[in-house]
Amino acid sequence: MDDASSDFGFGQTFQLILSASSVEGVVIQLGSCQQPDFLSGTSKEMIKPDLTERPPIPSTISCYAIAVLSVAVAIIATELISRLLHAEAIASSMLCAVIFAAWFGGFGPALMAITLALLAFHYYLVDPISSFTWKQNLFAVGISEVPRLILFCITSLFVAFTISAQRKATEAVQRSRDGLKVAIEDQKQFEAALLQSEMYLTEAQRLSRTGSFGWNVSNGEIVWSDETNRIFQIDRTTKPTLESIVQRTHPEDRAAVQRTIDRASIDGNDFDHEYRLLMPDGTVKYLHAVARGARDASGGIEFVGAVMDVTAAREAERKLRRSEAYLAESQRLSHSSSWAWDVRRREFVYRSAEVYPLFGFDPEKADVPMQAFQDRILPEDRRRIIEAVPRAIRDKADFEIDFRIALPDGSTKRVRSVGHPVVSSDGDVIEVIGTHVDVTEQYAARETLQRAFDEIKKSEDRLRLVIDTIPTLVWRAGPDGNPDFLSQPALDYTGLSQRQAGDGWLRAFHPDDLTSMLEKWRAIRESGMRGELEARLRRFDGEYRWFLFHAEPLYDEVGNITKWYGSATDIEDRKRAEEALRESEQRFRDYAETASDWLWETGPDHRITRISDHLNAVGFGPSGVIGLARWEVATDAESEPEKWRLHRATLDAHHPFRDFVYTVKGIRSPVYVRTSGKPFFDASGNFLGYRGTGTNITATIRADHAEQALREAQAELAHVTRMTTLGELTASIAHEVNQPLAAVIANAEACLSWLDRANPEMDAARRSVEWIIDDGNRAGEVIRRVRALAKKGDIERVPLDVKDVVREAIALVQRELITRGVSLQTDLAPDPAMILGDRVQLQQVVVNLVMNGIEAMHPVTDRPRELVIRTGRDEAHRVFLSVTDRGVGISADRADRLFKAFFTTKSSGMGMGLSICRSIVEAHGGRLSASRNEGPGATFQFVLPSHKEDAS
Ligand code: ADP
Repeated sequence: MDDASSDFGFGQTFQLILSASSVEGVVIQLGSCQQPDFLSGTSKEMIKPDLTERPPIPSTISCYAIAVLSVAVAIIATELISRLLHAEAIASSMLCAVIFAAWFGGFGPALMAITLALLAFHYYLVDPISSFTWKQNLFAVGISEVPRLILFCITSLFVAFTISAQRKATEAVQRSRDGLKVAIEDQKQFEAALLQSEMYLTEAQRLSRTGSFGWNVSNGEIVWSDETNRIFQIDRTTKPTLESIVQRTHPEDRAAVQRTIDRASIDGNDFDHEYRLLMPDGTVKYLHAVARGARDASGGIEFVGAVMDVTAAREAERKLRRSEAYLAESQRLSHSSSWAWDVRRREFVYRSAEVYPLFGFDPEKADVPMQAFQDRILPEDRRRIIEAVPRAIRDKADFEIDFRIALPDGSTKRVRSVGHPVVSSDGDVIEVIGTHVDVTEQYAARETLQRAFDEIKKSEDRLRLVIDTIPTLVWRAGPDGNPDFLSQPALDYTGLSQRQAGDGWLRAFHPDDLTSMLEKWRAIRESGMRGELEARLRRFDGEYRWFLFHAEPLYDEVGNITKWYGSATDIEDRKRAEEALRESEQRFRDYAETASDWLWETGPDHRITRISDHLNAVGFGPSGVIGLARWEVATDAESEPEKWRLHRATLDAHHPFRDFVYTVKGIRSPVYVRTSGKPFFDASGNFLGYRGTGTNITATIRADHAEQALREAQAELAHVTRMTTLGELTASIAHEVNQPLAAVIANAEACLSWLDRANPEMDAARRSVEWIIDDGNRAGEVIRRVRALAKKGDIERVPLDVKDVVREAIALVQRELITRGVSLQTDLAPDPAMILGDRVQLQQVVVNLVMNGIEAMHPVTDRPRELVIRTGRDEAHRVFLSVTDRGVGISADRADRLFKAFFTTKSSGMGMGLSICRSIVEAHGGRLSASRNEGPGATFQFVLPSHKEDAS
């Protein structure tokens, strides 16, 4: 019992009182003031003692029958005893019968047995003894028998009473034992049920976070349930005290808790309060404690109560409050409010605080009548609202309605009200809930926006006009790259319709450009940056023209590209100009590159800034000379200071220069460089440097040197051959000289004879002297000519008449012609045949050709030896001279070899004559050739540029 009370507390204590106050039965009294319902229902049923199971009680008739039977048996026994043993056992037998009847039948049957025994006594003791005949005098019994009868009566009465009392007592005890057994059984069942219910209760307390407690104010004893211990986080072995409770209470609530305890301990009234606990780990618990006070028999106050952990509820409540506050704040900020309309009561059951200021009422005055709200709504809008709500209820559909509120200050508010009918489980609309949103600003904004849109539309129209009038094609594309807009010029140009532009725009591109265009377009889109590309676009008539496409991305606020805007500009003309420029550039580059080995550029300080890689021709790359001046690269700067001084003066004067030759260091030997340059200037005329070309002329220079050497050798050889020719002409020359000398002598003698006369013939003498002078001159002339041929002088080119050359040459070979029997004819054109040349060299040529002709005719005996010299001009107006003989002629196989050095058919010949003649003629810019005559002999002729031509 102590355990039970400690487990359940006072409130839940069962007081089981077993009382056997009466032998009549067992009374079980269950006492509990706050017995749990589930126990009161089921446990009572379970522990109700079953009193119907009692030993069977014999019926009254059978009891009396037992009495009769007992007496009968006693009579039979008496009869048997008296007859067999001759003893009179009536009294004892009857006593036995009475005892028997009393034991089994009770006091009544015992009395009946006594009565019957007395009748038996009448049979045996009244005369006629042992006769069943009617005996007149019942009391006619012998006096001796009277004491025995009285004794029998007293004894049997006493025995009957005692035995029946004994029997009843025994029965009662029996019954009582049975009842006890049942009670013990019930007790066991009850305890099991109690234990279970205790378990349930503990579990229920744990689940509901509700603990129970009992507090006996008078002795200060406090009893807690497990859950209460858990809530307070106090070990169950620790005895709870008021101090420990106050100690665990949150400091801010301690005073209030203390007050509640104090008041309760004085007045014993029920209490219900909430306070917080500050747990050892710093967390806070919210507790709700309720207790009922009662007074015990001694007048002491006892409390039984429950303590609930309502932390979760308070937290939820706090959150709810906060969210309510947020909601209120958000409604205030967003100018929105909420409401609820009760359909049955036909009134607003809820209005959030913001409804009041919305309608221009003070939110503090919550009792604004509905009509006042309605009156604030503009009459023209009121009807719509009044109709909207019933419709929403009828259709069970949401509604949205805009209306205006006229505020007392004369301003108007625009409100958007959204309503939602709430349908109950039985399908009826019970409430309509909704919101009011102040959309005044939105309306104003919308109006502003509309105005702005109108403005935009106007400016868009203007822009469109601009877009459609500018010659550039304008387009817009989505992020996928497909255009969704083309300006009118673009449509006009391509012949596409706006609708076709979306999926047919690719058709407008030149098929050859399509792949690269798409690739570039994709690259631009992937880069997300503005970009350009060029492609040919088909005009509506099928002509393709080059366009420059420019694309610009448009981003939204989160950085995604929403559109691409772009233009397409016709660059066909530019493209052509570029092409032409490129071509011309290439052309000039080709010219420059083919005319030179490399191109260079110098800066204002004449240092090389750029040079083409053709510089490899020199043996070192461009990088080696960048930043150097020409004279720093040159190797002849010191050896030829004057040349460089002049060159630098030219550069400093910013004059162009041409064919400036200098040397640089080559890999093995000096490299000759010929360079030409031109200054270049910027638009305002500032000198920027020089641009020019360079050529490695080492080979040319070397060739010149070789040519020079060759020329010198040839001149030497020509001289030698002339000397040889002179040698051959010695006889002729001697004759030439001798003739005038002989004439001089003859004339001198004649002169002397004229003078030796007595009358000297002065005139004749004079004439002779004059002849002498002429002859002397003639001889001198011959010697002069010989000397000229023998002279080894520099070549001098002077204007000459070829006919003079011919005449002088003939004078030299005159004697040779005569001695060889050759007749010479000359066919000289009357006009002067002027050439620019060296007289001696050309004479040598003519003498050579004439001598060869004479020699070729040497073997000829069968025909006249004739030599013809012709001069004149050919069809190209060049001067020609030919020598035709009638000699042995030239065979076809020799024709090519005649002019080769050392080719001769003569035993004493050198084979150099014609070779030298050809090089002399070619040095004069002419050509020497040989041909066979139609008749016998050969013709050698040369052509020379006429002097005028040359000069021009
Ligand atoms: P050379 O007179 O010392 O032989 P040339 O060079 O003057 O050297 O002449 C070369 C050769 O050309 C001659 O040996 C001769 O065979 C041939 N030749 C030159 N002139 C004539 C000519 N007028 N007719 C035929 N053969 C000629």
